Amino acid sequence: IILSCWTSIGGSTYVKYKDPKQPLGVRIKDLLGRMSLAEKIGQMTQIERSVASADVMNKYFIGSVLSGGGSVPSQRASAETWLGMVNEFQKGSLSTRLGIPMIYGIDAVHGHNNVYGATIFPHNVGLGATRDPELAKRIGEATALEVRATGIPYVFAPCIAVCRDPRWGRCYESYSEDPKVVQMMTQIIPGLQGQIPANSRKAVPYVAGKMHVAACAKHYVGDGGTHEGINENNTLISRNGLLSIHMPAYLNAISKGVATVMVSYSSWNGVKMHANRDLVTGYLKNKLRFKAMLLICHINLQGFVISDWQGIDRITTPPGANYPYSVRTGITAGIDMIMVPFNYTGFIDDLTNFVKSGVIPMSRIDDAVSRILRVKFTMGLFESPIADSSMVDQLGNPAHRELAREAVRKSLVLLKNGKYGEKPLLPLSKYAKKILIAGTHADNLGYQCGGWTITWQGLSGNDNTKGTTILDAIKATVGKTTEVVYSEQPDAGYVKSNGGFDYAIVVVGEPPYAETFGDSMNLTMAEPGPDTIRNVCGHVKCVVVVVSGRPVVIEPYVSTIDSLVAAWLPGTEGHGVADMLFGDYGFTGKLPRTWFKSVDQLPMNVGDRHYDPLFPFGFGLTTRPIKA
Ligand code: BGC
Repeated sequence: IILSCWTSIGGSTYVKYKDPKQPLGVRIKDLLGRMSLAEKIGQMTQIERSVASADVMNKYFIGSVLSGGGSVPSQRASAETWLGMVNEFQKGSLSTRLGIPMIYGIDAVHGHNNVYGATIFPHNVGLGATRDPELAKRIGEATALEVRATGIPYVFAPCIAVCRDPRWGRCYESYSEDPKVVQMMTQIIPGLQGQIPANSRKAVPYVAGKMHVAACAKHYVGDGGTHEGINENNTLISRNGLLSIHMPAYLNAISKGVATVMVSYSSWNGVKMHANRDLVTGYLKNKLRFKAMLLICHINLQGFVISDWQGIDRITTPPGANYPYSVRTGITAGIDMIMVPFNYTGFIDDLTNFVKSGVIPMSRIDDAVSRILRVKFTMGLFESPIADSSMVDQLGNPAHRELAREAVRKSLVLLKNGKYGEKPLLPLSKYAKKILIAGTHADNLGYQCGGWTITWQGLSGNDNTKGTTILDAIKATVGKTTEVVYSEQPDAGYVKSNGGFDYAIVVVGEPPYAETFGDSMNLTMAEPGPDTIRNVCGHVKCVVVVVSGRPVVIEPYVSTIDSLVAAWLPGTEGHGVADMLFGDYGFTGKLPRTWFKSVDQLPMNVGDRHYDPLFPFGFGLTTRPIKA
């Protein structure tokens, strides 16, 4: 009882906030009461790893560091290299007067995708096709272990966008066009963060132990509803529409204890989300918290709200045009941590001036810092800020690869199986004499993984990460006597002169992309994909496997194709595709999106009045596995 802040026990000074036995609220209050304005503003600042160092962390009291898309120490950096880097920054933070640990964040959006050798899971659109929330949870658990193996405790995932228009370059980051499917898949959050015990009275954010990471539901809100699917654009929709389509998944995320929420670049009815006080403070922080409390009585959002990368700069046009105005508007809207990520001295100076002059009240700063500290305390970062190498074996762990393979199997959607009146072509025989594998995506690990893999925009080829291409998986599956002929871009002459194939597998689709670079007004399949389909399917029975982040224009070719499979962006485990083609497992995947006939129908979503799809939302043929 008599222990007060500065009581000495056995020679060492007792400090309340350092005592894990103290209630969370007491620790936060104690620490906040000791912090200077500079220390508080430092906590609100997140900088990029390329400008971070132990000195910078120490000098500016920086609260967080991130790897922006594909920002890595080196392309093949080992887990040990990552650990070394993260720990070095952390030591800088720990050497400050109050020793507040920093939190390192990274875009682990389909596994630990920035790191060589990590397991790459299917992108979210594929997981949406599985309709399997428990699978999402297991993927969350595996991802958390691989991320922790590199000393990182925080991921900018999941993206819970409800993509309403496949022309959007981020559509593959969305589980579905249907809010209910997206809500279901928020089960990845207890996988990433740990499951809140049923009898717990703990306030969220909830992150259990060293095997889990803090998650980030993004991008709040309406990112998937922009006009014509243009990235970062305006979402024109009524309040009711916003609340019934784009908002529900946030309620699930909060009731599952999500530690942080990232604000969207997009605008809602002309107001940038980074400037929207009504939706960030009024709705997310106050109202949703209240609703979630009613749902699961002890839950509320006390985690922090983070900006997107240079998100506040874009409040003004052109970005950063009036930076002080942006800082003031973003902080006033209710954003707690700012992903600056380079101009941190400018940000710190501007925010300091606004607080000193009374334009931004100290209560706003204290709200932000309390939330950030709450996440750090909850995660045990004060007790164990430095990561060791005991988990490096988790990276690319065989059990995780097996899980990714299962996810691939469940994500594949069978859209057609056999021409009208003919026998189904799938499952394929493993004992054919001679088969042809063709197409740009058959032997390309980079294409299989898509954007947000090793680099922001993704890569082409097989050298950039570890895994199995679809071609290699097929070769490993067919019998020894089967002759496998592979040609990336066969012309009709080649196919004819190599005649006598039992069947062909054509793997085509989209090249990798991310964010605005993926916006597409025509959604055509990349050349020479259509040519390859024509050249092959015109002469031999064929299965076409489409590797893409979204439905693409396929209608003109469907009649020439015998069987058609949507494989989305399956990731490193090509074996999952072969498992399905050869009938080791039966197809169960269902379309997470409407497959349109032509782009002039867009946007077109399930439930629309004029709904005339090529394949409707939820469609997917089933097959039975072949018994061994
Ligand atoms: C993206 C976010 C991402 C952030 C950090 C932004 O460009 O919109 O989804 O988390 O970069 O890399």
